[in-house]
Amino acid sequence: MGTESLRLPAHAKLNLSLEVLGKRDDGYHDIATILQTVDLADQLTVSSSRVLEVYCDNPELSGPRNIVWDAAVKLAAHGGVEPWAKIKIHKRIPMAAGLGGGSADAATGLLGLNRFWGLGFTEDKLLSIASELGSDVPFLVKGGTAIGTGRGDLLEHLTSQTNLRVLLIAPAQSIANKTPTLYGALTPNDYSDGTHTRRLAGSTEMSTGKISSDLCLNAFTRAALEIFPGLADVWEKTAAIVKHRPCLSGAGPAFFCLPSDDAEREEVADALQGTGAKVYLVRTINPAQPV
Ligand code: C5P
Repeated sequence: MGTESLRLPAHAKLNLSLEVLGKRDDGYHDIATILQTVDLADQLTVSSSRVLEVYCDNPELSGPRNIVWDAAVKLAAHGGVEPWAKIKIHKRIPMAAGLGGGSADAATGLLGLNRFWGLGFTEDKLLSIASELGSDVPFLVKGGTAIGTGRGDLLEHLTSQTNLRVLLIAPAQSIANKTPTLYGALTPNDYSDGTHTRRLAGSTEMSTGKISSDLCLNAFTRAALEIFPGLADVWEKTAAIVKHRPCLSGAGPAFFCLPSDDAEREEVADALQGTGAKVYLVRTINPAQPV
């Protein structure tokens, strides 16, 4: 056993572009997406225990139902060790919002426990365990800026977009079984061939760090505005104020505007009072955590 206690951030992600190409035979969809980490983060603390314990400050997410539990069990099985550790999760990332909160916790759990148990697994090994846990988990092992293809887990890292200020809005309500429901609500009209994402990934705006949400695109936008209660209202109120148009993140309901500033955050927060939506001004980052 390595250290007494480890504390690690688990950063949220945005999708600067998300195209759905079509349905596959294995029940997943092929996508083309640009993923980006931001400085909104949960915090994981790992310490020693004679059993596996996972505590979350949202008690509904304590114990075996937390994806971090699965991450610990899988990693321990690969390492041939007992999955013993006490993991505390302080949630700051809104849940089931399209910001990768659970996936970030799972990815950070893998990184933290790899160190805590002294397993010495390489990044490639952690990425392959991560892809068994969920499509977004591999990206969140490393973070930064990357293009994701396949079901989102085949990654190619891009020039990091760091220190851009992003207005992030998380509406109050999500829905049960969100991701499969939203994928299931897509029709072939929502599909595209990935050209937009590849063009954006290779654009001058991306290589010079001048990306704006006016260039962003998300295949779930139509379905999300129809399905999430209250999203259309929050979206329209925001769109009436911001300089750069809103773009959905993941399967929603969170969305973002980029670049932004504190004055815009205040104006949007005022306009959204009473809707229950959370409004953040965050920064894009490349956390580059060591394995
Ligand atoms: O990989 P993850 O566990 O996040 O996926 C949850 C569900 O979302 C899958 O079971 C599938 O129904 C849907 N999904 C999909 N295509 C993807 C990613 C997820 O259809 N690329």
